[in-house]
Amino acid sequence: MLPEPAPNLPRTVRYSHYVTEILDHAGIYYELLDHEPLDEYLDHLKVLVTVGEGVFPESSIQKLKDWVECGGAWIGVGGTCGGDDLFGVEVLPPTWSLGKIKSGTLGEGYLQPLNETHKTLEHLAIPLHFFGGMPVRANGAEELASVLDAHYRPTNRSALTINRAGDGVCMLLAPDLTGTVCRIQQGIGMTRDGVSAPDGTASIEDRVGKTDDGAVLDWLQDRQPVDDVEGFSAFLQPIADQWRELFLRSIFHVCTLHNISLPLIWLYPRALPALGEISHDTDLCEAPKALSMMKVVESAGIHTTWCVILPGYPSEIIDAIKAAGHELATHYDAMTAGCEWGEREFTDTVSKLTEMFGDSKPITNKNHYLRWEGDTEFFDWCVKNGIEIDQSKGPSKSGNVGFGFGTCHPYFPVDPDGKLIDVLELPTLTQDILIVAPRELSAYLAAGAAKHHGIMHLLFHPAHIEKPGVADALTEAINLGKDQGMEFWTARNINNWERARRSIKWQGWESTAAGARCCLSASREMKQATIMWLSGDKRTITIDGNQQNAKVLERWGFRFAATDFDISPGTTYLAEITE
Ligand SMILES: [Zn+2]
Repeated sequence: MLPEPAPNLPRTVRYSHYVTEILDHAGIYYELLDHEPLDEYLDHLKVLVTVGEGVFPESSIQKLKDWVECGGAWIGVGGTCGGDDLFGVEVLPPTWSLGKIKSGTLGEGYLQPLNETHKTLEHLAIPLHFFGGMPVRANGAEELASVLDAHYRPTNRSALTINRAGDGVCMLLAPDLTGTVCRIQQGIGMTRDGVSAPDGTASIEDRVGKTDDGAVLDWLQDRQPVDDVEGFSAFLQPIADQWRELFLRSIFHVCTLHNISLPLIWLYPRALPALGEISHDTDLCEAPKALSMMKVVESAGIHTTWCVILPGYPSEIIDAIKAAGHELATHYDAMTAGCEWGEREFTDTVSKLTEMFGDSKPITNKNHYLRWEGDTEFFDWCVKNGIEIDQSKGPSKSGNVGFGFGTCHPYFPVDPDGKLIDVLELPTLTQDILIVAPRELSAYLAAGAAKHHGIMHLLFHPAHIEKPGVADALTEAINLGKDQGMEFWTARNINNWERARRSIKWQGWESTAAGARCCLSASREMKQATIMWLSGDKRTITIDGNQQNAKVLERWGFRFAATDFDISPGTTYLAEITE
Protein backbone atom coordinates (compact mmCIF):
# COMPACT_ATOMS: atom_id res chain seq x y z
CA MET A 1 0.00 0.00 0.00
CA LEU A 2 1.41 3.35 -1.03
CA PRO A 3 1.28 6.11 1.59
CA GLU A 4 -1.89 8.18 1.49
CA PRO A 5 -1.43 11.72 0.12
CA ALA A 6 -1.73 14.58 2.59
CA PRO A 7 -5.18 16.14 3.10
CA ASN A 8 -6.30 18.49 0.32
CA LEU A 9 -4.25 16.63 -2.30
CA PRO A 10 -5.83 14.45 -5.01
CA ARG A 11 -5.73 10.67 -4.63
CA THR A 12 -6.52 7.83 -6.98
CA VAL A 13 -7.32 5.25 -4.30
CA ARG A 14 -9.26 5.44 -1.03
CA TYR A 15 -8.96 3.01 1.89
CA SER A 16 -6.00 1.25 0.22
CA HIS A 17 -5.52 -0.94 3.31
CA TYR A 18 -8.96 -2.44 2.57
CA VAL A 19 -7.08 -4.64 0.12
CA THR A 20 -6.13 -6.73 3.17
CA GLU A 21 -9.86 -7.16 3.99
CA ILE A 22 -10.39 -8.35 0.40
CA LEU A 23 -7.46 -10.79 0.58
CA ASP A 24 -8.33 -11.98 4.11
CA HIS A 25 -11.90 -12.75 3.10
CA ALA A 26 -10.61 -14.59 0.04
CA GLY A 27 -8.34 -16.51 2.45
CA ILE A 28 -5.25 -16.39 0.25
CA TYR A 29 -1.64 -16.35 1.31
CA TYR A 30 0.08 -12.97 1.10
CA GLU A 31 2.67 -10.87 2.89
CA LEU A 32 2.38 -7.16 3.60
CA LEU A 33 5.44 -5.20 2.54
CA ASP A 34 6.74 -1.91 3.74
CA HIS A 35 7.29 -0.13 0.43
CA GLU A 36 10.41 1.76 1.50
CA PRO A 37 13.06 -0.93 1.03
CA LEU A 38 11.08 -2.57 -1.80
CA ASP A 39 14.30 -3.38 -3.64
CA GLU A 40 15.34 -5.76 -0.86
CA TYR A 41 12.09 -7.71 -0.94
CA LEU A 42 12.04 -8.31 -4.65
CA ASP A 43 14.47 -11.23 -4.72
CA HIS A 44 12.07 -13.54 -2.90
CA LEU A 45 8.85 -12.19 -4.43
CA LYS A 46 6.89 -13.90 -7.20
CA VAL A 47 3.96 -11.47 -7.44
CA LEU A 48 3.96 -7.83 -6.33
CA VAL A 49 0.67 -5.97 -5.79
CA THR A 50 0.79 -2.21 -5.25
CA VAL A 51 -2.30 -0.27 -4.24
CA GLY A 52 -2.34 3.49 -4.72
CA GLU A 53 -0.09 5.99 -6.39
CA GLY A 54 3.31 7.38 -5.58
CA VAL A 55 6.57 7.57 -7.45
CA PHE A 56 9.22 5.02 -6.62
CA PRO A 57 12.83 6.28 -6.85
CA GLU A 58 14.48 5.77 -10.22
CA SER A 59 16.78 3.12 -8.70
CA SER A 60 13.73 1.13 -7.50
CA ILE A 61 12.07 1.36 -10.89
CA GLN A 62 15.25 -0.01 -12.51
CA LYS A 63 15.33 -2.87 -9.97
CA LEU A 64 11.63 -3.53 -10.60
CA LYS A 65 12.28 -3.59 -14.33
CA ASP A 66 15.05 -6.16 -13.91
CA TRP A 67 12.85 -8.20 -11.57
CA VAL A 68 9.86 -8.18 -13.95
CA GLU A 69 12.01 -9.04 -16.97
CA CYS A 70 13.43 -12.01 -15.08
CA GLY A 71 9.91 -13.38 -14.54
CA GLY A 72 8.26 -11.20 -11.89
CA ALA A 73 4.57 -10.27 -11.99
CA TRP A 74 3.45 -6.78 -10.91
CA ILE A 75 -0.21 -5.88 -10.44
CA GLY A 76 -0.83 -2.18 -9.94
CA VAL A 77 -4.14 -0.90 -8.56
CA GLY A 78 -5.02 2.74 -9.11
CA GLY A 79 -1.44 3.78 -9.80
CA THR A 80 1.69 3.07 -11.82
CA CYS A 81 4.18 4.32 -9.19
CA GLY A 82 6.32 5.72 -12.00
CA GLY A 83 6.44 2.39 -13.85
CA ASP A 84 4.46 3.65 -16.86
CA ASP A 85 6.80 1.93 -19.32
CA LEU A 86 6.59 -1.39 -17.50
CA PHE A 87 2.80 -1.24 -17.50
CA GLY A 88 2.81 0.01 -21.08
CA VAL A 89 0.48 2.91 -20.32
CA GLU A 90 0.44 6.67 -20.45
CA VAL A 91 -0.88 8.48 -17.38
CA LEU A 92 -3.34 11.21 -18.37
CA PRO A 93 -3.00 14.65 -16.73
CA PRO A 94 -5.92 16.91 -15.82
CA THR A 95 -7.45 18.63 -18.84
CA TRP A 96 -6.59 21.98 -17.29
CA SER A 97 -4.59 23.16 -14.33
CA LEU A 98 -2.51 26.09 -13.17
CA GLY A 99 0.40 23.74 -12.86
CA LYS A 100 0.18 22.64 -9.27
CA ILE A 101 -1.84 19.46 -9.81
CA LYS A 102 -0.08 17.09 -12.17
CA SER A 103 -2.05 13.88 -11.70
CA GLY A 104 -5.51 13.32 -13.05
CA THR A 105 -8.43 11.43 -11.52
CA LEU A 106 -10.78 8.92 -13.06
CA GLY A 107 -13.99 9.98 -11.32
CA GLU A 108 -17.10 7.83 -11.67
CA GLY A 109 -17.53 5.42 -14.56
CA TYR A 110 -17.75 1.83 -15.73
CA LEU A 111 -15.18 -0.78 -16.68
CA GLN A 112 -16.14 -2.09 -20.12
CA PRO A 113 -14.53 -5.44 -21.03
CA LEU A 114 -12.98 -5.49 -24.50
CA ASN A 115 -11.88 -9.11 -24.23
CA GLU A 116 -14.95 -10.68 -22.64
CA THR A 117 -13.52 -14.18 -22.54
CA HIS A 118 -10.32 -13.15 -20.78
CA LYS A 119 -9.96 -15.02 -17.48
CA THR A 120 -9.99 -11.81 -15.48
CA LEU A 121 -13.25 -10.53 -16.99
CA GLU A 122 -15.37 -13.52 -17.96
CA HIS A 123 -17.46 -13.27 -14.76
CA LEU A 124 -18.93 -9.91 -15.79
CA ALA A 125 -22.36 -9.54 -17.36
CA ILE A 126 -22.63 -5.73 -17.53
CA PRO A 127 -20.04 -2.90 -17.40
CA LEU A 128 -18.69 -2.64 -13.87
CA HIS A 129 -19.48 0.55 -11.95
CA PHE A 130 -16.53 2.24 -10.26
CA PHE A 131 -15.78 5.35 -8.23
CA GLY A 132 -12.32 6.89 -8.62
CA GLY A 133 -8.98 5.73 -9.90
CA MET A 134 -6.04 6.63 -12.12
CA PRO A 135 -6.72 7.91 -15.66
CA VAL A 136 -4.45 6.04 -18.08
CA ARG A 137 -4.37 5.09 -21.75
CA ALA A 138 -2.73 1.91 -23.05
CA ASN A 139 0.55 2.77 -24.73
CA GLY A 140 2.01 -0.57 -25.76
CA ALA A 141 0.02 -2.70 -23.29
CA GLU A 142 -2.89 -4.89 -24.35
CA GLU A 143 -6.09 -3.14 -23.30
CA LEU A 144 -8.37 -5.76 -21.72
CA ALA A 145 -11.04 -3.29 -20.63
CA SER A 146 -11.77 0.35 -21.38
CA VAL A 147 -13.56 3.08 -19.44
CA LEU A 148 -17.11 4.28 -20.01
CA ASP A 149 -17.85 7.58 -18.30
CA ALA A 150 -20.62 7.96 -15.71
CA HIS A 151 -23.14 8.45 -18.53
CA TYR A 152 -22.07 5.27 -20.35
CA ARG A 153 -20.19 7.18 -23.07
CA PRO A 154 -16.95 5.69 -24.42
CA THR A 155 -13.68 7.38 -23.44
CA ASN A 156 -10.07 6.97 -24.60
CA ARG A 157 -9.12 5.66 -21.16
CA SER A 158 -8.12 2.12 -20.22
CA ALA A 159 -9.50 0.31 -17.16
CA LEU A 160 -7.47 -2.91 -17.26
CA THR A 161 -4.23 -3.50 -19.14
CA ILE A 162 -1.68 -6.27 -19.37
CA ASN A 163 1.88 -5.89 -20.60
CA ARG A 164 4.57 -8.51 -21.13
CA ALA A 165 8.08 -7.36 -20.30
CA GLY A 166 10.84 -9.93 -20.82
CA ASP A 167 9.76 -13.07 -18.97
CA GLY A 168 7.46 -11.10 -16.68
CA VAL A 169 4.06 -9.49 -16.80
CA CYS A 170 2.51 -6.26 -15.49
CA MET A 171 -1.22 -5.72 -15.07
CA LEU A 172 -2.77 -2.37 -14.23
CA LEU A 173 -6.24 -2.03 -12.74
CA ALA A 174 -6.82 1.70 -13.13
CA PRO A 175 -10.06 2.15 -11.11
CA ASP A 176 -10.00 2.53 -7.34
CA LEU A 177 -10.69 -1.05 -6.27
CA THR A 178 -10.81 -0.50 -2.53
CA GLY A 179 -12.67 2.80 -2.53
CA THR A 180 -15.21 1.42 -4.98
CA VAL A 181 -15.85 -1.75 -2.98
CA CYS A 182 -16.33 0.24 0.25
CA ARG A 183 -18.57 2.85 -1.33
CA ILE A 184 -20.86 0.29 -2.97
CA GLN A 185 -21.05 -2.07 0.02
CA GLN A 186 -21.74 0.58 2.60
CA GLY A 187 -23.31 3.35 0.57
CA ILE A 188 -22.84 6.90 1.77
CA GLY A 189 -23.66 8.40 5.14
CA MET A 190 -27.20 9.70 5.10
CA THR A 191 -29.14 12.42 6.79
CA ARG A 192 -32.17 12.46 4.48
CA ASP A 193 -33.97 10.52 1.75
CA GLY A 194 -32.18 9.25 -1.36
CA VAL A 195 -33.59 9.64 -4.88
CA SER A 196 -36.36 7.29 -6.02
CA ALA A 197 -36.14 5.00 -9.05
CA PRO A 198 -37.35 6.73 -12.24
CA ASP A 199 -39.71 3.84 -13.06
CA GLY A 200 -41.69 4.28 -9.84
CA THR A 201 -40.82 0.83 -8.46
CA ALA A 202 -38.63 2.07 -5.62
CA SER A 203 -39.95 5.25 -4.00
CA ILE A 204 -37.28 5.65 -1.37
CA GLU A 205 -38.27 9.31 -0.91
CA ASP A 206 -40.61 8.42 1.92
CA ARG A 207 -39.49 10.45 4.95
CA VAL A 208 -38.07 7.34 6.63
CA GLY A 209 -34.29 7.06 7.07
CA LYS A 210 -33.27 3.59 5.92
CA THR A 211 -30.17 1.93 4.54
CA ASP A 212 -31.19 2.11 0.88
CA ASP A 213 -31.29 5.93 1.06
CA GLY A 214 -27.48 5.72 1.09
CA ALA A 215 -27.09 3.17 -1.72
CA VAL A 216 -24.88 4.38 -4.59
CA LEU A 217 -25.59 1.99 -7.46
CA ASP A 218 -27.34 3.34 -10.53
CA TRP A 219 -31.04 2.73 -11.16
CA LEU A 220 -30.51 2.53 -14.93
CA GLN A 221 -27.08 0.96 -15.49
CA ASP A 222 -26.78 -1.36 -12.50
CA ARG A 223 -30.26 -2.91 -12.61
CA GLN A 224 -31.43 -5.40 -15.22
CA PRO A 225 -34.92 -6.53 -16.27
CA VAL A 226 -36.22 -9.73 -14.72
CA ASP A 227 -37.48 -12.08 -17.42
CA ASP A 228 -41.22 -12.70 -17.54
CA VAL A 229 -42.03 -9.84 -15.15
CA GLU A 230 -42.94 -6.92 -17.39
CA GLY A 231 -41.62 -3.58 -16.11
CA PHE A 232 -39.65 -5.02 -13.18
CA SER A 233 -35.91 -4.52 -12.81
CA ALA A 234 -33.62 -5.52 -9.97
CA PHE A 235 -29.96 -5.41 -9.00
CA LEU A 236 -28.97 -8.79 -10.39
CA GLN A 237 -25.17 -8.37 -10.31
CA PRO A 238 -23.18 -8.15 -7.06
CA ILE A 239 -20.98 -5.33 -8.34
CA ALA A 240 -18.65 -5.05 -5.32
CA ASP A 241 -18.16 -8.83 -5.26
CA GLN A 242 -17.35 -8.70 -8.96
CA TRP A 243 -14.68 -6.07 -8.27
CA ARG A 244 -13.18 -8.27 -5.57
CA GLU A 245 -13.29 -11.19 -7.96
CA LEU A 246 -11.70 -9.23 -10.82
CA PHE A 247 -8.78 -8.46 -8.49
CA LEU A 248 -8.49 -12.09 -7.35
CA ARG A 249 -8.71 -13.31 -10.92
CA SER A 250 -5.87 -10.95 -11.87
CA ILE A 251 -3.72 -12.51 -9.15
CA PHE A 252 -4.69 -16.04 -10.20
CA HIS A 253 -4.07 -15.18 -13.85
CA VAL A 254 -0.47 -14.05 -13.33
CA CYS A 255 0.14 -17.00 -10.96
CA THR A 256 -1.13 -19.37 -13.65
CA LEU A 257 1.04 -17.73 -16.31
CA HIS A 258 4.07 -18.26 -14.07
CA ASN A 259 3.08 -21.67 -12.70
CA ILE A 260 2.88 -20.41 -9.12
CA SER A 261 0.96 -22.60 -6.65
CA LEU A 262 -0.98 -20.33 -4.32
CA PRO A 263 -2.79 -21.67 -1.23
CA LEU A 264 -6.03 -20.42 0.30
CA ILE A 265 -8.56 -21.32 2.94
CA TRP A 266 -11.88 -21.66 1.11
CA LEU A 267 -14.90 -19.58 2.12
CA TYR A 268 -16.93 -22.47 3.53
CA PRO A 269 -16.33 -25.97 4.90
CA ARG A 270 -16.61 -29.09 2.74
CA ALA A 271 -15.79 -26.95 -0.32
CA LEU A 272 -19.41 -25.75 -0.41
CA PRO A 273 -19.83 -23.41 -3.38
CA ALA A 274 -22.13 -20.99 -1.52
CA LEU A 275 -24.53 -20.68 1.43
CA GLY A 276 -28.11 -19.64 2.04
CA GLU A 277 -29.64 -17.87 5.02
CA ILE A 278 -33.29 -17.24 5.82
CA SER A 279 -34.09 -14.63 8.46
CA HIS A 280 -37.44 -13.66 9.96
CA ASP A 281 -38.41 -10.27 11.37
CA THR A 282 -41.12 -10.94 13.92
CA ASP A 283 -43.13 -7.73 13.34
CA LEU A 284 -46.49 -7.84 15.21
CA CYS A 285 -45.26 -10.82 17.29
CA GLU A 286 -48.18 -13.08 16.38
CA ALA A 287 -47.59 -16.42 18.07
CA PRO A 288 -49.71 -18.60 15.71
CA LYS A 289 -47.84 -17.27 12.66
CA ALA A 290 -44.52 -17.95 14.37
CA LEU A 291 -45.61 -21.58 14.68
CA SER A 292 -46.70 -21.62 11.02
CA MET A 293 -43.31 -20.30 9.96
CA MET A 294 -41.51 -22.84 12.12
CA LYS A 295 -43.43 -25.65 10.38
CA VAL A 296 -42.41 -24.41 6.93
CA VAL A 297 -38.70 -24.08 7.68
CA GLU A 298 -38.70 -27.34 9.62
CA SER A 299 -40.15 -29.19 6.65
CA ALA A 300 -37.38 -27.63 4.52
CA GLY A 301 -34.90 -29.02 7.03
CA ILE A 302 -33.14 -25.74 7.79
CA HIS A 303 -32.35 -23.53 10.76
CA THR A 304 -33.16 -19.83 10.50
CA THR A 305 -32.43 -16.51 12.21
CA TRP A 306 -35.32 -14.92 14.13
CA CYS A 307 -34.92 -11.17 14.55
CA VAL A 308 -37.31 -10.52 17.41
CA ILE A 309 -38.98 -7.12 17.76
CA LEU A 310 -40.18 -5.80 21.14
CA PRO A 311 -42.40 -6.49 22.99
CA GLY A 312 -41.45 -9.99 21.79
CA TYR A 313 -43.16 -13.37 21.74
CA PRO A 314 -44.54 -15.18 24.80
CA SER A 315 -41.87 -17.28 26.47
CA GLU A 316 -43.24 -20.57 25.09
CA ILE A 317 -42.66 -19.32 21.53
CA ILE A 318 -39.14 -18.09 22.36
CA ASP A 319 -38.44 -21.50 23.93
CA ALA A 320 -39.85 -23.33 20.91
CA ILE A 321 -37.69 -21.32 18.48
CA LYS A 322 -34.63 -22.07 20.59
CA ALA A 323 -35.50 -25.75 21.05
CA ALA A 324 -35.91 -26.19 17.29
CA GLY A 325 -32.29 -25.07 16.84
CA HIS A 326 -33.01 -21.66 15.34
CA GLU A 327 -31.12 -18.49 16.19
CA LEU A 328 -32.61 -15.72 18.34
CA ALA A 329 -31.50 -12.28 17.20
CA THR A 330 -32.46 -8.66 17.72
CA HIS A 331 -34.79 -6.53 15.59
CA TYR A 332 -34.31 -2.92 16.61
CA ASP A 333 -37.42 -0.79 16.17
CA ALA A 334 -36.81 2.91 15.51
CA MET A 335 -39.91 3.22 13.34
CA THR A 336 -43.01 2.64 15.44
CA ALA A 337 -44.42 5.81 17.02
CA GLY A 338 -42.52 6.53 20.22
CA CYS A 339 -39.53 4.36 19.25
CA GLU A 340 -36.58 6.63 18.54
CA TRP A 341 -33.29 6.18 16.67
CA GLY A 342 -30.47 6.40 19.17
CA GLU A 343 -27.69 4.51 20.88
CA ARG A 344 -29.49 4.48 24.22
CA GLU A 345 -32.64 3.04 22.63
CA PHE A 346 -30.66 0.39 20.73
CA THR A 347 -28.77 -0.62 23.87
CA ASP A 348 -32.06 -0.83 25.74
CA THR A 349 -33.54 -3.07 23.00
CA VAL A 350 -30.56 -5.43 23.04
CA SER A 351 -30.63 -5.70 26.82
CA LYS A 352 -34.39 -6.39 26.98
CA LEU A 353 -34.15 -9.06 24.27
CA THR A 354 -31.06 -10.62 25.85
CA GLU A 355 -33.09 -11.07 29.02
CA MET A 356 -36.01 -12.51 27.05
CA PHE A 357 -33.72 -15.03 25.29
CA GLY A 358 -32.39 -16.46 28.56
CA ASP A 359 -28.98 -17.96 28.02
CA SER A 360 -28.75 -17.20 24.26
CA LYS A 361 -26.96 -13.89 24.03
CA PRO A 362 -27.85 -12.37 20.65
CA ILE A 363 -24.99 -11.62 18.26
CA THR A 364 -27.09 -10.84 15.15
CA ASN A 365 -29.20 -7.76 14.46
CA LYS A 366 -31.43 -6.43 11.73
CA ASN A 367 -33.16 -3.06 12.03
CA HIS A 368 -36.93 -2.89 11.67
CA TYR A 369 -37.77 -1.41 8.25
CA LEU A 370 -33.99 -1.49 7.63
CA ARG A 371 -33.84 1.84 9.46
CA TRP A 372 -30.58 3.76 9.34
CA GLU A 373 -29.30 7.23 10.06
CA GLY A 374 -25.89 8.81 9.75
CA ASP A 375 -22.81 7.00 8.54
CA THR A 376 -21.25 4.15 10.52
CA GLU A 377 -22.32 5.20 14.03
CA PHE A 378 -24.78 2.31 14.13
CA PHE A 379 -21.98 -0.20 13.54
CA ASP A 380 -20.21 1.26 16.60
CA TRP A 381 -23.36 0.72 18.67
CA CYS A 382 -23.36 -2.91 17.50
CA VAL A 383 -19.77 -3.40 18.64
CA LYS A 384 -20.53 -1.90 22.05
CA ASN A 385 -23.56 -4.17 22.49
CA GLY A 386 -21.90 -7.44 21.50
CA ILE A 387 -23.63 -7.62 18.10
CA GLU A 388 -21.09 -9.32 15.83
CA ILE A 389 -23.09 -9.44 12.59
CA ASP A 390 -25.67 -6.97 11.25
CA GLN A 391 -28.04 -7.47 8.33
CA SER A 392 -29.69 -4.05 7.98
CA LYS A 393 -28.26 -3.16 4.57
CA GLY A 394 -30.99 -4.08 2.14
CA PRO A 395 -34.02 -3.01 0.11
CA SER A 396 -37.10 -1.38 1.58
CA LYS A 397 -38.93 -1.27 -1.78
CA SER A 398 -39.64 -3.70 -4.62
CA GLY A 399 -37.53 -1.90 -7.22
CA ASN A 400 -34.27 -2.08 -5.29
CA VAL A 401 -34.21 -5.76 -4.38
CA GLY A 402 -31.26 -7.96 -5.27
CA PHE A 403 -27.62 -7.02 -4.82
CA GLY A 404 -28.36 -3.33 -4.16
CA PHE A 405 -25.28 -3.01 -1.96
CA GLY A 406 -23.22 -4.94 -4.48
CA THR A 407 -22.41 -7.86 -2.24
CA CYS A 408 -23.68 -11.15 -0.88
CA HIS A 409 -20.59 -11.74 1.28
CA PRO A 410 -20.09 -10.81 4.93
CA TYR A 411 -17.63 -7.92 5.18
CA PHE A 412 -16.09 -5.60 7.76
CA PRO A 413 -17.09 -1.96 7.12
CA VAL A 414 -14.83 1.09 7.42
CA ASP A 415 -15.55 4.31 9.29
CA PRO A 416 -15.17 7.65 7.47
CA ASP A 417 -11.46 7.70 8.33
CA GLY A 418 -11.01 4.23 6.89
CA LYS A 419 -10.73 2.34 10.19
CA LEU A 420 -12.16 -1.19 10.10
CA ILE A 421 -15.13 -1.71 12.43
CA ASP A 422 -15.36 -5.06 14.19
CA VAL A 423 -18.86 -6.02 13.07
CA LEU A 424 -19.66 -8.09 10.01
CA GLU A 425 -22.36 -6.83 7.66
CA LEU A 426 -24.22 -9.36 5.54
CA PRO A 427 -26.82 -7.59 3.42
CA THR A 428 -30.43 -8.69 3.07
CA LEU A 429 -31.07 -9.35 -0.63
CA THR A 430 -34.83 -9.10 -0.56
CA GLN A 431 -37.83 -9.00 1.73
CA ASP A 432 -40.68 -11.47 1.32
CA ILE A 433 -40.77 -13.09 -2.10
CA LEU A 434 -44.32 -12.83 -3.48
CA ILE A 435 -45.19 -9.89 -1.20
CA VAL A 436 -42.35 -7.45 -1.99
CA ALA A 437 -40.68 -9.09 -4.98
CA PRO A 438 -41.93 -11.45 -7.70
CA ARG A 439 -41.42 -15.16 -7.37
CA GLU A 440 -39.22 -15.12 -10.50
CA LEU A 441 -36.53 -13.22 -8.57
CA SER A 442 -35.57 -16.23 -6.42
CA ALA A 443 -33.83 -18.08 -9.24
CA TYR A 444 -31.74 -15.01 -10.09
CA LEU A 445 -30.64 -14.56 -6.49
CA ALA A 446 -29.79 -18.24 -6.06
CA ALA A 447 -27.79 -18.29 -9.29
CA GLY A 448 -26.10 -14.95 -8.55
CA ALA A 449 -25.05 -15.88 -5.02
CA ALA A 450 -23.82 -19.28 -6.21
CA LYS A 451 -21.87 -17.87 -9.16
CA HIS A 452 -20.06 -15.44 -6.87
CA HIS A 453 -19.70 -17.94 -3.99
CA GLY A 454 -21.68 -15.73 -1.64
CA ILE A 455 -24.66 -16.10 0.66
CA MET A 456 -28.26 -15.88 -0.51
CA HIS A 457 -29.81 -14.13 2.47
CA LEU A 458 -33.58 -13.72 2.21
CA LEU A 459 -35.97 -12.19 4.72
CA PHE A 460 -39.41 -13.74 5.26
CA HIS A 461 -41.74 -12.22 7.87
CA PRO A 462 -43.91 -14.64 9.85
CA ALA A 463 -46.63 -11.96 9.46
CA HIS A 464 -47.01 -12.98 5.78
CA ILE A 465 -46.48 -16.73 6.01
CA GLU A 466 -50.17 -17.64 6.02
CA LYS A 467 -50.96 -15.56 2.93
CA PRO A 468 -51.69 -17.61 -0.19
CA GLY A 469 -48.57 -18.91 -1.93
CA VAL A 470 -45.99 -17.44 0.50
CA ALA A 471 -45.05 -20.74 2.15
CA ASP A 472 -44.57 -22.30 -1.29
CA ALA A 473 -42.48 -19.33 -2.44
CA LEU A 474 -40.26 -19.69 0.63
CA THR A 475 -39.86 -23.43 0.11
CA GLU A 476 -39.14 -22.86 -3.57
CA ALA A 477 -36.42 -20.28 -2.78
CA ILE A 478 -34.77 -22.69 -0.34
CA ASN A 479 -34.89 -25.49 -2.91
CA LEU A 480 -33.40 -23.24 -5.59
CA GLY A 481 -30.52 -22.53 -3.21
CA LYS A 482 -30.07 -26.20 -2.42
CA ASP A 483 -30.04 -26.97 -6.15
CA GLN A 484 -27.02 -24.64 -6.37
CA GLY A 485 -25.26 -26.66 -3.67
CA MET A 486 -26.05 -24.32 -0.78
CA GLU A 487 -26.45 -25.32 2.85
CA PHE A 488 -28.68 -22.96 4.82
CA TRP A 489 -27.03 -21.58 7.94
CA THR A 490 -28.06 -19.13 10.64
CA ALA A 491 -26.33 -15.74 10.74
CA ARG A 492 -24.69 -16.82 14.01
CA ASN A 493 -23.02 -19.77 12.31
CA ILE A 494 -22.01 -17.63 9.33
CA ASN A 495 -20.45 -15.11 11.72
CA ASN A 496 -18.61 -17.75 13.72
CA TRP A 497 -17.25 -19.49 10.65
CA GLU A 498 -16.10 -16.26 8.99
CA ARG A 499 -14.37 -15.09 12.17
CA ALA A 500 -12.68 -18.49 12.58
CA ARG A 501 -11.42 -18.24 8.98
CA ARG A 502 -10.01 -14.81 9.73
CA SER A 503 -7.89 -16.36 12.50
CA ILE A 504 -5.97 -18.40 9.92
CA LYS A 505 -2.35 -17.41 9.41
CA TRP A 506 -0.38 -18.54 6.36
CA GLN A 507 3.37 -18.32 6.76
CA GLY A 508 6.57 -19.18 4.96
CA TRP A 509 5.35 -19.99 1.45
CA GLU A 510 8.11 -21.48 -0.67
CA SER A 511 8.29 -23.17 -4.02
CA THR A 512 9.69 -26.69 -4.11
CA ALA A 513 11.02 -28.88 -6.90
CA ALA A 514 7.60 -30.46 -7.36
CA GLY A 515 5.26 -27.65 -6.28
CA ALA A 516 5.01 -25.47 -3.19
CA ARG A 517 4.51 -25.58 0.56
CA CYS A 518 3.25 -23.22 3.22
CA CYS A 519 2.52 -23.34 6.96
CA LEU A 520 -0.85 -22.50 8.38
CA SER A 521 -2.24 -22.13 11.87
CA ALA A 522 -5.45 -20.78 13.38
CA SER A 523 -6.56 -19.57 16.79
CA ARG A 524 -10.05 -21.06 16.40
CA GLU A 525 -11.22 -24.57 15.68
CA MET A 526 -12.54 -25.31 12.17
CA LYS A 527 -14.07 -28.67 11.27
CA GLN A 528 -13.83 -29.83 7.66
CA ALA A 529 -12.18 -26.62 6.56
CA THR A 530 -11.22 -26.68 2.89
CA ILE A 531 -7.69 -25.87 1.84
CA MET A 532 -7.24 -25.12 -1.85
CA TRP A 533 -4.18 -24.70 -4.04
CA LEU A 534 -4.24 -22.87 -7.32
CA SER A 535 -2.31 -25.69 -8.83
CA GLY A 536 -2.29 -26.10 -12.59
CA ASP A 537 -1.82 -29.81 -13.11
CA LYS A 538 -0.60 -30.53 -9.60
CA ARG A 539 -3.14 -32.31 -7.45
CA THR A 540 -1.43 -34.17 -4.61
CA ILE A 541 -1.92 -32.39 -1.30
CA THR A 542 -0.16 -33.38 1.90
CA ILE A 543 -0.68 -32.01 5.40
CA ASP A 544 2.30 -32.64 7.70
CA GLY A 545 3.51 -35.21 5.19
CA ASN A 546 0.25 -37.19 5.11
CA GLN A 547 -1.36 -37.43 1.70
CA GLN A 548 -4.94 -36.12 1.73
CA ASN A 549 -7.97 -36.99 -0.32
CA ALA A 550 -7.88 -34.23 -2.89
CA LYS A 551 -10.24 -33.20 -5.66
CA VAL A 552 -9.98 -30.68 -8.44
CA LEU A 553 -12.56 -27.87 -8.35
CA GLU A 554 -13.20 -24.78 -10.41
CA ARG A 555 -13.52 -21.57 -8.43
CA TRP A 556 -13.52 -17.98 -9.73
CA GLY A 557 -12.84 -19.44 -13.20
CA PHE A 558 -9.62 -21.22 -12.17
CA ARG A 559 -8.79 -24.80 -11.26
CA PHE A 560 -7.88 -25.61 -7.69
CA ALA A 561 -6.83 -28.79 -5.92
CA ALA A 562 -8.86 -29.00 -2.69
CA THR A 563 -8.92 -31.04 0.48
CA ASP A 564 -10.95 -30.90 3.70
CA PHE A 565 -9.44 -31.29 7.14
CA ASP A 566 -10.06 -30.39 10.78
CA ILE A 567 -7.99 -27.48 12.04
CA SER A 568 -7.25 -27.38 15.78
CA PRO A 569 -6.47 -24.05 17.39
CA GLY A 570 -2.82 -23.35 18.15
CA THR A 571 -1.44 -26.09 15.90
CA THR A 572 0.83 -25.31 12.96
CA TYR A 573 0.35 -27.45 9.87
CA LEU A 574 2.65 -27.83 6.88
CA ALA A 575 0.55 -27.92 3.71
CA GLU A 576 2.21 -29.01 0.48
CA ILE A 577 1.15 -29.42 -3.14
CA THR A 578 3.02 -31.70 -5.53
CA GLU A 579 2.54 -33.37 -8.90
ZN1 LIG B 1 -39.50 -5.38 11.04
